[in-house]
Order: sequence, then structure tokens, then C-alpha cells
Amino acid sequence: MYSRNPHTSRSSSHSGPSRSGQRSSSRRPFRSSYGRSSHGYGGNRRVSSGRTSQADRGRGAHIPHSKFISKAVEPESVEVFVPKHTFANFAIDERLKKNIVKKGYTTPTPIQDAAIPLALHGRDVVGLAETGTGKTGAFLIPLIDKVLKNDSESVLIMAPTRELAVQIDEEFRGFASGLPLRSALVIGGANINSQIRSLRYGPQFVIGTPGRIMDLMGQNELRLAKCANVVLDEADRMLDMGFIESVKKILATMPAKRHTLFFSATLGREIEQLIGDFLTEPERISVKTQDTSKNVDQDIVRIQSGRTKLDHLSELLKDNNFTKVLVFGRTKHGVEKLSKLLKQTGFSVESIHGNKSHSQRQRALQLFKDEKVQVLVATDVAARGLDIPKVSHVINFDVPGTYDDYVHRIGRTGRAGERGKALTFIE
Ligand code: AMP
Repeated sequence: MYSRNPHTSRSSSHSGPSRSGQRSSSRRPFRSSYGRSSHGYGGNRRVSSGRTSQADRGRGAHIPHSKFISKAVEPESVEVFVPKHTFANFAIDERLKKNIVKKGYTTPTPIQDAAIPLALHGRDVVGLAETGTGKTGAFLIPLIDKVLKNDSESVLIMAPTRELAVQIDEEFRGFASGLPLRSALVIGGANINSQIRSLRYGPQFVIGTPGRIMDLMGQNELRLAKCANVVLDEADRMLDMGFIESVKKILATMPAKRHTLFFSATLGREIEQLIGDFLTEPERISVKTQDTSKNVDQDIVRIQSGRTKLDHLSELLKDNNFTKVLVFGRTKHGVEKLSKLLKQTGFSVESIHGNKSHSQRQRALQLFKDEKVQVLVATDVAARGLDIPKVSHVINFDVPGTYDDYVHRIGRTGRAGERGKALTFIE
């Protein structure tokens, strides 16, 4: 899937007039100057000392164990969604419709069904939706159509994590295949020079993380004064990860009259404030996301005295049903250590956490997605927003810090109406 070198930024070049060289300034909406501002890429804010602190051991201890035990509901009881629209009857470019079909999408998901018509009418949208709902298509399809209809339009898409930005760019390139559209992927942890080059080619879509976007603005390589379309994806995660001030600064440089599509899994006071400050009479959509945890058989594994969590994990991984296992640990150091120990025991394992470079994380993720390794050991932050099909089991090697984290972790299994399994180790 990720056939290109993940070290480099991506500039999706397709057939069309912009293929070679730079565009005229009117066709290069992101270029020119912007005052420098200093900031840092937030990344994983939890700093691990490598040892489990008293506070760490205490985190999650307050969650009653009974909350980790639940039987999955029978799939028949899950309501079937009937969309109001079809992709064929959306008023969008025929070439885009063809690409949607090529991607294998036959009907719109609930968020797409609700958001696409609104966005096509130029409305600001607040979508309450999580990864896995098809929200990327919900904002990309109307915005691609908009740019195809008017090539002076440009779009900025902000996402909290590098991985999510990569996923959005992948999705973009599917929808934009063969069309005269380009994207630039601008994310931290990857070479900034190749990103600068891709910006100089005049992409209509810039997809990135707030820290790197600010860097590029500070270097006068990204200018947003004429960019009148913006997507904020996973706004609540941006807040969690300390990006919100950067996001506000970025939005403040964009035209006041702009089209804003805003997605968040949760709404809180600060998110509401952001919506109030930066959106214009937004239409709110709350897709009844299927409660993924209902699809998941959940149970605890009590660690017997004289045995370690590693003993239990190794035993489980030898079971043939544990085909694609996502193991959650609390700290970066703990995750790295566990993956090394499992490797030494003979399991095929990869790990993702904040101490790995972007390309290492992408590689690990891809090997796991492609089922080339059985196990992926991850921290909460690194695994955020990832869409990995057919995870057979989620194992909470360390108890999650909060119940929200727990629900997020187990939501990685039991996707697409399948039944998942989650086990939580209790010492
Ligand atoms: P997202 O929530 O945007 O991360 O999408 C979750 C997954 O659903 C991705 O693997 C998409 O490729 C897939 N997807 C998005 N829209 C559709 C659709 N209309 N039909 C089938 N799959 C879709």
C-alpha cells in the first residue's frame, strides 16, 4: 500500500497541466511569505523514564475490573444503515465518481451520506465521528470536487499524527488518481527539504501535522492567506496532544471567509470554543457510530502468582486463533522492551511508539497490516487513529490509563461488523 519511500514527503503528481515545473503564482496558493513563529512538534507528550513509576502503576488502577469484561452482542442485533444518497446521485465530477467506484466504495457511509451534500453546498460542518467511519472520504470527496470545479481553490488538511496524515494522503491519491491534482504531505519526523520541494510544485492539497505546517509557514514556504478551505481532523486529539495553539495560529492566517470542515470523536468545552471561534454557522452531524466495544468479547486475564505477564502473553500467542494481535503497553520503553523479549522468544513482532522515526513506524505498521508479522506492540498515542483491518485480538498488557483509552484500544478489533476479542492483564 505504501509503495513510496515514507522518508520523503509525497507530492501526488497525476496527468494534467501541472506535471512539470511550477505553477503560476495564482495556481500556487501555498507559496510566499509568512512571519516566523517558534513552536515545537508536540508528538508524544508522555515522557518515559524507562521505569514504571508509582504514578504509572496507579494509572488505570481505579477502573473496576468488571468494566474489562463483556460478551460481544450478536451481529444480527446491529442495525443496518440505509443511506439517503448514492455516490452516483451526488452532484460531483464524473471522474471522481469513477475513482470512488475504483476504490471499491459502493454506498456512502453514514458520515459521508450526511456530510457530503452539506459540504457540496459550501456549509461548514462539525462531524462527530471516529476513524473507521469513512470520515476521510466525507471531507475529501466534496473538497476534491470543489477544486476540480475551480482550480484556484486550495485546501489545507490538519491531522494530529503523522500516521493519520499519511492515511489521509493515501486516501487522497486514490480519489485523485488520473486527475490534475496534487497533494503535499508535510509531517514532522520526515525530511523538510523534500516537503519544501513538493510545496513548490503547487499542490492544491496540503495535508500535514500542525507543528510542521507552522515550521513551513515560518520558513516562508507555506502561505495560507489565499487558502480558503480547511479540514481539522481529530480535533480532540489535537487538543490532547497540545497542538491547539498552533492550530489557532494557523487558522488565524487563513481568509476569514473560508470553508471549514471539522471532525472530532468527542466534544468538550475547548472544542466547542474552537468551533465557536473558527466556524461559521456550522451544520452538526453526529453519526450514530456503531459502538465498536459492543462487537468485542472482553475479558480479563489474572496473572497467577509465580508467573509473569510475559509468560501469559507467550502462551496466548501460541494459540492459532491469535493471528493478528495488537498489544498495548504504557510506556515507550516498556513497549520496546516487550517487543524485543517477544522476538527473542521466537514471535514475529513489530513495535510502534514515539521514540521511533516516522519511517520506522510506517514500516512496522505496514508489516502488521499486511500480516507479515503476528504481533504489533504499541503505546496509546502511537496507535491513535489507526485503521488496521482484521485485528484478531487486542491485549492490554498494561492496564490503560483511563476508560476512554480502554474503549479506544479495544476499538482496534471488531471493526467492519466483525467480532473482536480483547483481553486485559490484571496483576
Ligand atoms: P476512515 O474513517 O476515513 O479512516 O475510513 C475507514 C475505512 O473505511 C478506510 O479503510 C476506508 O478506505 C474505508 N471506507 C471509507 N468510505 C467507504 C465506503 N463508502 N465504502 C467502503 N469503505 C469505505
